[in-house]
Amino acid sequence: MRFMTAEPFRIKMVENLKKTTKAQRQEFLKEAGYNAFKVKAENVYVDCITDSGTSAMSTEQWAAMMKGDESYASCKSFFHLEASVQDIFGMPFVQPTHQGRAADLIMANLYAKKGKYAIGNMHFDTFRGNAEIMGALAADLVIDEGLDTASAAHPFKGNMDTAKVTRLIAEKGVENVSVIIMTITCNNNGGQPVSMQNIRETSEIAKEFNIPFIIDCARYAENAYFIQQREPGYADTPIIEIAREMFSYCETAVMSSKKDGLVNMGGLFVTRNEAIFAAAQQLTIAREGFITYGGMSGRDLEALAVGLYEGIDQDYLEYRINQVKYLGDRLKEKGIPIVEPTGGHGVYVDGRRFFPNIPQHEFPSQRLVVALYEEAGVRCVELGACAFGSKDPVTGKDVMPALEIMRIGISRRVYTNNHLDVIAEALGYIYENRDSYKGMKLVYEAEITSLRHFTAGFEML
Ligand SMILES: *Cc1c(COP(=O)(O)O)cnc(C)c1O
Repeated sequence: MRFMTAEPFRIKMVENLKKTTKAQRQEFLKEAGYNAFKVKAENVYVDCITDSGTSAMSTEQWAAMMKGDESYASCKSFFHLEASVQDIFGMPFVQPTHQGRAADLIMANLYAKKGKYAIGNMHFDTFRGNAEIMGALAADLVIDEGLDTASAAHPFKGNMDTAKVTRLIAEKGVENVSVIIMTITCNNNGGQPVSMQNIRETSEIAKEFNIPFIIDCARYAENAYFIQQREPGYADTPIIEIAREMFSYCETAVMSSKKDGLVNMGGLFVTRNEAIFAAAQQLTIAREGFITYGGMSGRDLEALAVGLYEGIDQDYLEYRINQVKYLGDRLKEKGIPIVEPTGGHGVYVDGRRFFPNIPQHEFPSQRLVVALYEEAGVRCVELGACAFGSKDPVTGKDVMPALEIMRIGISRRVYTNNHLDVIAEALGYIYENRDSYKGMKLVYEAEITSLRHFTAGFEML
C-alpha cells in the first residue's frame, strides 16, 4: 500500500457550490448580526462551522436507506442498528435518540443532580446547557496542558486531571458528586484525544467512590485511532478492539451519531445498567418516540447501522485524521497560531495569539470568524469569549474562559485538500494584515449563557 496515499473513496455525486463577491459577503454578515450561524448556508463557499451531521454518506449507506423499515414498533432496522452497536460498543442495551443532545438530556436526567457536581474533562455545551437548566454544577477538570494551546508535547491533551478529580471529591464530599463524564475526543480544547490509561484510571476513581462513569463518545473512533497511533501497546490493535476496551470502563455511553456515525442525524444512549436502561426507555417514550426508533426514521437507523462500521475502518480513519492534519500543517507553515498537536475533527486557531491587539472581551476569535467569511466565504465557529464566557452567579460580571479559539470543523468525506488550501491562503492573508483589525461588541445574548453563541448578535468596533 506504499503508493496508495489518496482518499479511500471516489466521488459519485457532487453538490455545486456558489461563489460570491466580497461586497455581497459584507452585506450577508451585516444582515446576520455578524453571527456566522445566521448566514445562509447557500452563501457559504467552504462550510466549516461544524463537523456535525455534515458527513457524505457512502453508496452502501444510501442502499441501506432503501431498506428502512418504517414500522412504528420493533422495526427490522432497529435490530440492525442494535446489532452494530452491541458489536462495536460491547454493551447490551441500546436506545436510539433523534440526536446527541436528546441522549444528553436523558443522561442528565438520570445522572446529574441539582446542586451536585458533574465532573468532566470538558463538558460538551449541550450537556452543560442541560446541567445549567437543572441546576447541576458542571466542573471541567482537564489536565493543565489541555488549556495551553501552544504546548504540542502532550499526546493526549483531552485527559482528565485525576488529581483534580480526587481533590474535588475530597473537598466537596463524595455525596456532592453525582457523575463523572469523559468526552472523547475532547471537542472544547481542540478535538484532543484521551488515552486509554486515563479512561481506565478515571473509571477506577469512579468505581472506588461508587460514582457512575459515563463516556460522551461522539468522536470515539477518532479517539481510538489516536490511541492506536500514540499510546504504547496499541499499535497493532484493531480499532474495534480499542473501542470495545474504551467502553468496557463505563456504565453508560451517549453519542451524537452525527460525527463518527457518518450520518446526518441520530443519537444513541447505550448502557450496561438494566435499571438505567428501563428508565431511559421511559424518558424516550415521553420525549422522543417509541423505544425502537427513538426519534429516528427506519432509513436513518439503517444508515447508522452501516455508518458505524465505516467510521471505524482503518483506511478511512487514516485518511480522516491526516486530512485534518494537512490543514494544520499548512497553517503552521504560515506561522498561524493553532492548537497543537492538531486534533481529530478540526483545526483550532488561537484568537488571542492571532489578534494580540484585540482584548478577549472584544471577541478576537469571533472577529476572525467574520474576517474569514468576508475574505473567502469560509464559515467557522467561535469557541471563546462568546461561546464559553460565563457570568459570575454572585456579581453578574463576565467571566472570561481559559481558551479563546476559532474552530475550523472539517466535515467527513466532503471537502478536498484544495478546499483546505483556500482556508490556509485566506487565513494567511488575514494574518499578514492582523494589525488592521479591531474587535467586536456583543449586542444581543440569550438567557442561557452556555448556549448564547448560537443566537448572539454583534456590532463591529
Ligand atoms: C455534537 C455533540 C453532542 C450533541 O449532539 P447533537 O447530535 O448535536 O445533538 C454532545 N456531545 C458531544 C461530545 C458532541 O460532539
